Amino acid sequence: MVDFQNILDAITLEANNTLDKGKIASYIPELACADKNKFGIALLDKNGTLFSAGDTKEQFSVQSMTKVLTLSMAFDLLGDNLWELVGVEPSGDPFNHLSLLEQENGKPRNPLINAGAIVVSDILVSKLKNPRAEFLKYVQGIANDSSIGYDVSVAESEKRTGFRNYAAAYLIKSFGNLENDVETVLDFYFHQCSLSMSCEQLVNTFYIFANRGKCLQDNQHLSLSQIKRINAIMLSCGFYDEAGEFGFRVGLPGKSGVGGGIVALLPDNFCVVTWSPGLNEKGNSKLGLQALEKLTTDSGLSIF
Ligand code: GLU
Repeated sequence: MVDFQNILDAITLEANNTLDKGKIASYIPELACADKNKFGIALLDKNGTLFSAGDTKEQFSVQSMTKVLTLSMAFDLLGDNLWELVGVEPSGDPFNHLSLLEQENGKPRNPLINAGAIVVSDILVSKLKNPRAEFLKYVQGIANDSSIGYDVSVAESEKRTGFRNYAAAYLIKSFGNLENDVETVLDFYFHQCSLSMSCEQLVNTFYIFANRGKCLQDNQHLSLSQIKRINAIMLSCGFYDEAGEFGFRVGLPGKSGVGGGIVALLPDNFCVVTWSPGLNEKGNSKLGLQALEKLTTDSGLSIF
C-alpha cells in the first residue's frame, strides 16, 4: 500500500526548500497580496481518508479551478447540447487568448479557458434565477460545507481590470454566441472565479471526479458518463498551453488556477489539491507542478 502521508511530507519539505517559487499573478491586483511562502497539499483517497501537509486549511482564490464546477452544472442542465456552444479541443494558447475565437466564429475551443467559461457562465445566467446564489449552493452541496463563499474584494478587483475578459465576451457576443448582456455574464464569471477555498475544502469538492460522480456523503452529483467527459477535458485542456507538459510530467487529469491552486485526480483512487501562489511562465503553480510530478513518480500512480 502507498504511504501517502510520507510522500506528502517529503513533497512539502522539498517545496519549502525550493528557492525559486515562481511569480505571483498581479494582473488581478487583489491576488498580488498572496504570500509566496505558502504551500499546502491535501489528498483524499478512494475511501475518503484525508492526508495533508502544509497550509491546507488556509483559503485562497480558486480562480480557474472553478471552471470545472460551472462546467459540471451547465452540463447537468443542458446535456450534450452544451457542445454546440463550446468545444472540447485543447487550445494550445494562453488562458486569455482571443485569436482562435475570431477564427472559429465565437465558439470557444473548450470550457476551461476564459472564453469557454464565459460561454458556460452565459448558459448558467440564462438557466438560473439567481446564478450567483445557486452556483454557490451547488458547490456547497457537493462539498457538504456551507462556509464556502465568494471573496467579493477579488471579484471587484477583477471587474476593474479584466479588460481581456470584456474583449472576449464582446467578441463572442458579436458572433451571436452570448445570449445575455456582457456586464451580467462577467459579473457572474468574476464571482465564480473569486470563490475562496482551502486545499481541504477543494479536495472534498473535487472528490466526485475521482469517485464516479459521488461525493463524500455518497450522493450522486454527476453520471459516470459525465465524469468521463469532464475528466477527459481536464486532461487535454486543464493547464492552458501547458496541458501537454502536465500530462507528460504528472499523468493525471486536473485543473489549475492563477491563484496558485491545482487539482488533479486518479479515477477510483485519489483526488489531490496543491496550493502555492507562485506561478511559472505559463500561469500554472510552479511548486504545485513539481509536487504533483513527485507524487505520481514516488507513488507509481498515474493514469498511465
Ligand atoms: N479570473 C481569472 C481570469 O479570468 C482566471 C484565470 C485563471 O485562473 O486561469 O483572468
